[in-house]
Amino acid sequence: MNATSITLPKMKPASFDVERIRGDFPILHQQVHGKPLVYLDNAASAQKPRAVIDAIKHYYENDHANIHRGVHALSERATALYDEARIKVQKFIGAPCLRELIFTRGATEAINLVAQTFGRVHVHAGDEVILTALEHHSNIVPWQVLCWEKHAHLRVVPVTDAGELRLDELEKMINPATKIIAVAHVSNALGTVNPIQKIIDLAHKHGVYVLIDGAQATPHLAVDVRELDCDFYVFSGHKVYGPTGIGALYGKPQHLELMPPYQTGGDMISYVSFAKTTWNELPYKFEAGTPNIAGAIGLAAAVDYIDAIGKDMIAAHEHKLLEYATERVAAIPGVRIIGTAKEKASVLSFIVNDPPMSALDVGTRLDLDGVAIRTGHHCCQPLMERFGIAGTARASFAMYNTIEEVDVLADTLEKIVASARPRVVVSTNGQPIYPEPVADNPQQAADEIAEFFDAVDDWAEKYQYLIDIGGKLAPMPEVLKTEPNRVKRCQSTVFMHARTRPGTADVIEFLADSDADIVRGELALLQKLYCGQRAAEILAFDIQGFMERIGLERNLSPGRRTGLSEMIARVKHYAGQVAQKSSK
Ligand code: PLP
Repeated sequence: MNATSITLPKMKPASFDVERIRGDFPILHQQVHGKPLVYLDNAASAQKPRAVIDAIKHYYENDHANIHRGVHALSERATALYDEARIKVQKFIGAPCLRELIFTRGATEAINLVAQTFGRVHVHAGDEVILTALEHHSNIVPWQVLCWEKHAHLRVVPVTDAGELRLDELEKMINPATKIIAVAHVSNALGTVNPIQKIIDLAHKHGVYVLIDGAQATPHLAVDVRELDCDFYVFSGHKVYGPTGIGALYGKPQHLELMPPYQTGGDMISYVSFAKTTWNELPYKFEAGTPNIAGAIGLAAAVDYIDAIGKDMIAAHEHKLLEYATERVAAIPGVRIIGTAKEKASVLSFIVNDPPMSALDVGTRLDLDGVAIRTGHHCCQPLMERFGIAGTARASFAMYNTIEEVDVLADTLEKIVASARPRVVVSTNGQPIYPEPVADNPQQAADEIAEFFDAVDDWAEKYQYLIDIGGKLAPMPEVLKTEPNRVKRCQSTVFMHARTRPGTADVIEFLADSDADIVRGELALLQKLYCGQRAAEILAFDIQGFMERIGLERNLSPGRRTGLSEMIARVKHYAGQVAQKSSK
């Protein structure tokens, strides 16, 4: 294979063969918790076909060197591959010419680039930037920061209960102060396909610029930026089956030419002296430093892969999956779908509200059956607030998913919801009841817990143990669920309130609660270890070693581990304060 030969045959298959496609994705053929993996977290990141993996491997094994200005063969080959990648990505979104296609780290960096360059030039005090209620944080915060800096204002287009944009409101919102509209092509949280052509046309009628966040559209829909006539279009490589850390920004050349550089340094210059520096031509003006060469090559291979299968075929298959999944999930009693727009792509968000079950619990239980979905606010906190919910469970589909996998999702969800029990609310007449110690010291309590964990091999059983002890968590009065008692950086809502046991100087006890059963289990575990124990013993106890011993470290997702660490840190911080006071 030479440097430029990593392409797939251009012949499109006559029909969509999902089994053949699955064969191209090595990661899909594995078991998780003893069950075949059903990967439905594609909106967060799609898996990579062998063509992408091989292209990156081949590059590093054969062609790697730094690009541009190299006089040797490897540098020339690497440069050729990087340039060729740009051509493929340019064609992928229909950008008219190469100068208009800038490689970035992803959609987030591309939006920041536009906000900090184009935005800074065009937005001034009193101006307005219009966003929509369904934007990802990546398409909110860069504009928010710009508006703070410039004393400009953010306006937000509301959404209907179905999750569709209120275009009538947008029309009313546009005024002479409006400078930019930034809108998602497809909502990552709801799957709504927004009428971006209408929005672009409307904006341009009023002389307003438009940035389209295409992170969720490019994996599913054919995109032609020339036809759309948008001013900017951004997307991420990892959502289109390419590597992480690479993405692209399309911008109209008249904008890109006038925009100041985003970052400065090597490669983006034409000439440097201590007196004066001039910028390189497009697109290099916006690619400071050594770029992600392997990422660009991997992204080009992903684009080739998608092209070889055909966007239309992919879209038709995913549409079938979404329709079937919607029908199956909507039929499960107690489940409510969030986001019922007429035009949707590949995302099914839902909550379980009868009996109420946190999205985190739904996701954790599905994972035990090998089904990978995402839970939480999906980086769309304002949208969750609009719907009055903390988060959703979100299944998102890719070209390699099957109807059988949708059945596994729906059957498992049905089982989970049927087994859910309404939480028993123990009345304490408002009086907090702090748990009694379960052992003489934390180590002894830990040994007793570890005995159970050692005896059980199956993580599902250990998980059930946590759910069971969480079910018996001492109730926490509502008055204690205050902002200072809220534990930050948790995937669910968590409250903790510690005190020194009355009549003692250094014995700690605490109450806690969460909306997620699994987190209640973790809190109950911490109560068993710490409640009724002396501050010094709590501080001396090796909690990390205990977590590793019982396998909790290995079995918790990084997000959950962060939450648990925060809860532990709370108790230890309080114990530290008490120990210090009592030693005086
Ligand atoms: N915009 C949308 C709609 C997204 O879904 C995402 C990622 O989930 C982003 C922007 C940010 O993409 P990245 O993190 O790859 O930069």
